[in-house]
Amino acid sequence: MSVEGDESIEYVIPEPIPTPSAEERIKIRKRAITRRLWGYGTILALIYFGLWYQPYEFDLIRRQIPNPNPSVDPDSKLLFAKGTKILIVTAHPDDSEFFIGGLLSQLSKSGADLHQVICTDGDKGYYFFFTDAEKNRVVRREEATNALHAWHGQSLEFLGYPDRWLHAKPDVVQKVSDEILRIKPNYILAFDGDFPPRASHQDHRRAGDIAKLAAEQTHVAKWLLLFSTIAPNHTIDISNSWEDQKKLLEIHKSQFYGKHLTGIENMVEFNAAKDGDRAGFELGEGFRCIKLK
Ligand SMILES: [Zn+2]
Repeated sequence: MSVEGDESIEYVIPEPIPTPSAEERIKIRKRAITRRLWGYGTILALIYFGLWYQPYEFDLIRRQIPNPNPSVDPDSKLLFAKGTKILIVTAHPDDSEFFIGGLLSQLSKSGADLHQVICTDGDKGYYFFFTDAEKNRVVRREEATNALHAWHGQSLEFLGYPDRWLHAKPDVVQKVSDEILRIKPNYILAFDGDFPPRASHQDHRRAGDIAKLAAEQTHVAKWLLLFSTIAPNHTIDISNSWEDQKKLLEIHKSQFYGKHLTGIENMVEFNAAKDGDRAGFELGEGFRCIKLK
């Protein structure tokens, strides 16, 4: 459209933008609300998936430690006697070296008769997406077997449940009970399912529950020694076993390597210093000892 007057300049006046009708305005608003809902919904779904996928459990309410919680000697003379039968029940292939590597080194030297049950295959490793579960299964079984040989274990039973999905179901408890009845251990070493760290792997908690239920239903073992606990009543002095424990950690090459190995060693040493401090040792491993009979 041109404006008459100045012939040299042609003004272009834009067409007026039509005002949307009331009906169209409602449609535009509806579309905006739908887009927003999809956006929020996707974010919530991603958060939910993340929480569901990650393997840790967190106690919103801090668990009350038994009070009083007197120290208990788990018949140390028997524990470190030659030929004492011990069954270790763990969740993942590297748990025993990580949590009780110091005690295992000492038991290996004292001539204990050591056996282990590992409930899952550890097939998720560090929970990277797209890891090859089948390969993890093979590699981690091999590493656990090598570690068992390093602390002179006599037998190792893999229950083969999937990593992250361990549950204290009767059939799982029965499998551990069968091992207890076969080995007839004096001691059962397991995670503390009742007093775990506030944030801890759910497989660890379930493996602890499973071991405790199996110990109670078999009436075989004299003692239940529970590790990774916030309620320890006994500390083993591992100040002189730290170098041995480091060698055990190094066996799990698929999990601990390079800078990550150093980080894990620092973490284990830090926890051992904390546990040892309570009992006046340089390094220690804390246990909640329960006398079964
Ligand atoms: Zn674990």
